[in-house]
Amino acid sequence: MKIITAIDEMRKYSLHLKHKHRIIGFVPTMGFLHQGHLSLVRKANEECDVTAVSIFVNPIQFGPNEDFAEYPRDIDRDVSLLKKEKVDVLFVPSHSEMYPEGYATYVNIKGRLSEDLCGLLRRGHFSGVATVIVKLFNIVMPDKSYFGQKDAQQVLVIKHLSKDLNIAVEIRVLPTVRETDGLAMSSRNKYLSPEEKLRALGIFRALKTAEEMAASGEFFVDRIKDKMKTIIEKENKLKIDYIEVVSQEDLKPMKKLQPGVLVAVAAFAGKTRLIDNIVIDKL
Ligand code: AMP
Repeated sequence: MKIITAIDEMRKYSLHLKHKHRIIGFVPTMGFLHQGHLSLVRKANEECDVTAVSIFVNPIQFGPNEDFAEYPRDIDRDVSLLKKEKVDVLFVPSHSEMYPEGYATYVNIKGRLSEDLCGLLRRGHFSGVATVIVKLFNIVMPDKSYFGQKDAQQVLVIKHLSKDLNIAVEIRVLPTVRETDGLAMSSRNKYLSPEEKLRALGIFRALKTAEEMAASGEFFVDRIKDKMKTIIEKENKLKIDYIEVVSQEDLKPMKKLQPGVLVAVAAFAGKTRLIDNIVIDKL
């Protein structure tokens, strides 16, 4: 596996691959890899000639009181996991490589996509995400890029910016990978104590309950949200940031369920903010 830290070198390598008409699959990550990340890597390997992964803990997508400094990092472990998956190239730029002195350009997505749900509490978060993704797309020049449904809002933002800014990349979205008990895998799960981890399961239980209520004929969103609130807050003592039932296309809130709605939750177990979601197809 090639490990590249310089932007120029990564661009040269990608251009070289493009001249040889190789299809480049790209998986951007912040490292501390788990099976969720690796599911994206495997799909890229399956669908593309060359798989590129990036590891970059992007400072501009963290708020001033968020966990940028503590975000888990283990580059040696990540490298060995990616080697096992036969990844072709790992791009690991430094902060000063990505944001040198005088850096001044930010990508902003207007409206609901970046301002609702996670954008409400995490002001500026999606501008940070959008900016780094546009930079990475320009550097790696992938044909296809792979993202997890776990970060449903991030997926919408990236699809939107690729379309708006005419970036020729196919956005591929893969299902959320879970622990056997249902907890969505996340690098941030490392912060959880065993007791918090048990309570964190309340998020998955609430999502499952929403699915079951929908399957048994409930279609009033408020009743579903109330039940989810009880499970998350009362039964599992998590602090809710939001419970939303929205259109998958534009995050517009729904009063009544429709096939394909996104049910999304953000909640705190102690200091750790967790997100998860499901799409309800069967009503
Ligand atoms: P991150 O390193 O958290 O920025 O995530 C990098 C990519 O992995 C993003 O596209 C995430 O949506 C995806 N990802 C993270 N957790 C999971 C998961 N449990 N299942 C599937 N994809 C995931």
